[in-house]
Amino acid sequence: MGFKLFINGEFVDSSSGEEYEVTNPANGKVVDSVARGNVQDVRAAIDYASDALKREKSAKTNISKILQVVSGLIRDHETELATLMTLEQGKTLQESRGEIKFFAHTMEYYAGLKARGSQVQISDATKLAVVEKEPVGVVGAIVPWNNPILLMGAKVAASLAAGSSIVVKPASTTPLSTLKSMELFKQAGIPDGLLNVVTGPGQTVGEELVRNPRTRKVSFTGETATGKRIMELASAQLKRVTLELGGSNPIIICDDADLDAAVNATLNGRFRNAGQGCMCVKRTYVFDNVAPRFVSKLKEKVQSIRIGDGMKPETTMGPVHSMSQRSKVETQVNDTISGGATLLIGGTEPTESDLRAGSFYMPTLVADVEKNSKLVAEECFGPALPIMTVSNLDEAIESANSSIYGLGASIWTKDLSRAKKAASQLEAGTVLVNSMYGAGGWEIEVPMGGFKQSGIGREYGIEGLESYTETKTIIFG
Ligand code: NDP
Repeated sequence: MGFKLFINGEFVDSSSGEEYEVTNPANGKVVDSVARGNVQDVRAAIDYASDALKREKSAKTNISKILQVVSGLIRDHETELATLMTLEQGKTLQESRGEIKFFAHTMEYYAGLKARGSQVQISDATKLAVVEKEPVGVVGAIVPWNNPILLMGAKVAASLAAGSSIVVKPASTTPLSTLKSMELFKQAGIPDGLLNVVTGPGQTVGEELVRNPRTRKVSFTGETATGKRIMELASAQLKRVTLELGGSNPIIICDDADLDAAVNATLNGRFRNAGQGCMCVKRTYVFDNVAPRFVSKLKEKVQSIRIGDGMKPETTMGPVHSMSQRSKVETQVNDTISGGATLLIGGTEPTESDLRAGSFYMPTLVADVEKNSKLVAEECFGPALPIMTVSNLDEAIESANSSIYGLGASIWTKDLSRAKKAASQLEAGTVLVNSMYGAGGWEIEVPMGGFKQSGIGREYGIEGLESYTETKTIIFG
C-alpha cells in the first residue's frame, strides 16, 4: 500500500521520492512502506502550518467541534488503528485497543477545554488589566515508539485546542497508525495545514523542527539524552520546549500493604507493553519482613505471563520493540547479575522456535540488587524488574529518591500517615498511593511530567493545553 506524509491536508510522497519499510517486532516481517521525509518536507509543512494559522485569524474554525467528531471516528475505527499499532509496535491487541480508547477520550476532553484568560484587579483602580492566553504559533511535536498514538494524541489535541498549528514527527519505527489516523482528522474537516505529519529520521526531520525559526515551540517525548540535545538546539532561539523524558519509577511496598493488590500493581506496572513505558514500575523497594511473601506471589504471577505475537488472543506480553532495544535490556540484566544480584526468573530470550524471529525477552525478576547496578541506576525500558529490600519508610524514600529521574513513584500502605509522608517527600511528578501505574498513572485530566532529569514542563490537563499558549497582559488606561 505505502503510507505517505500528511502535509497541508494531502497525503503526499516525500520530495525525494524515498521510502522505507516498517517491520513487525514479533516476526521481523515487513508491515508496510512509508515515505522517508527530509528537511525540505519539514520546511514545507512548517510553512503550511504557519499559513494555516494566519487564515484561522479570520476563519475561526470551530476546533472543539472537529475534535469531538474525530473522537467518534476514532472509536468507529478502533480495530483498524489498534491492529496497525500492534503490527508496527508489538504490544498486544488489547493494549493497542486501550491506547486507541485513550486517544478518542483525549480528543473529547480537549474539545471541551479552553485556555484560562482572566481580568485582574490592579492597585491603580482607574485601569483595567486583562490576562489573555494566545496560541503559541507553529508547534513541532516529536513522538517516541512506545505509545505512538497516545503521546501524539495528547500533543495534537492540546495544541489545536489552544489555537496553535502543529507538525508531528512520529518515531521512525511506528509511523503507520499515526498516518492512518490523519484520514480521520481529514474526514472530520480539519483545516488544511493546521495538522501535518512528516516521517523520517530524528537527526534530520526531528532536528529541523527544532532549528526552524518558524516553529515557536517543540514538544518532545523520548529519551533523556535526546531531550538534552533538543534543549541545546532550542536554546539558540530561546524556543519554548516541553520535554517528557525517561523515568525510573520506584514502587514502595510497606509491611501493612494489601499484598495481593501491590503484587498486581507491580506486575501490571512493570510488564504491560513489555515494560516499555515512561510510567512503568522500574524499581521495587519492599519492607524486608514481607519481602519473601511478596516475591513468591509476584514470581508466581510472572510465571503465568504468556509471551507471543500481540495479535494472538492468548498473548499477555508482546515482544520488546526492536532487537537493539532488547540488547539494551539484556546488557542491563547481565551486568546486574554479574555484579552479584540473584536472578529469580527470566533473564533470557525465549527458546520457542516460533518466537525466534521476533525481539522477545522473557519477563525477568532480579533480587539482591546493588544500588549502583545498571538495572537500578539506569532507566530499564523492558520487562526486567530489580527488587530491593528496605527496613523502614525513611530508607525506602531515600532510596526511591536516589535517582536522576523523577517521573512517577508509588506507595502501598494502609497507614495514612505513611502515605502522606511518602506523597510529600517522594521526588516525582506523579505519586500514586495504593493506585496502579497504568490505570492511575495515565489520566488525561491531570498534569503529567517529571522532576529532575525526567523533563521540563507538563502535558495533559489544562496545564498541557496552556503549554501551547503565550500569556499576554493588556492594561487599559
Ligand atoms: P528517542 O529519544 O530515541 O526518540 C524519540 C523521538 O525522537 C523519535 O521520534 C526519534 O526519531 C526522535 N529523535 C531522535 N533523535 C533526535 C534528534 N537528535 N532530534 C530530534 N528528534 C530526535 O527515544 P525512543 O524512541 O528510544 O523512546 C524511548 C524513550 O522515551 C525511553 O527512554 C522512555 O523513557 C522515553 N519516554 C518518555 C516518556 C515520558 O512521557 N516521559 C513517554 C514515552 C517514552 P527516530 O525514531 O527517527 O529516531
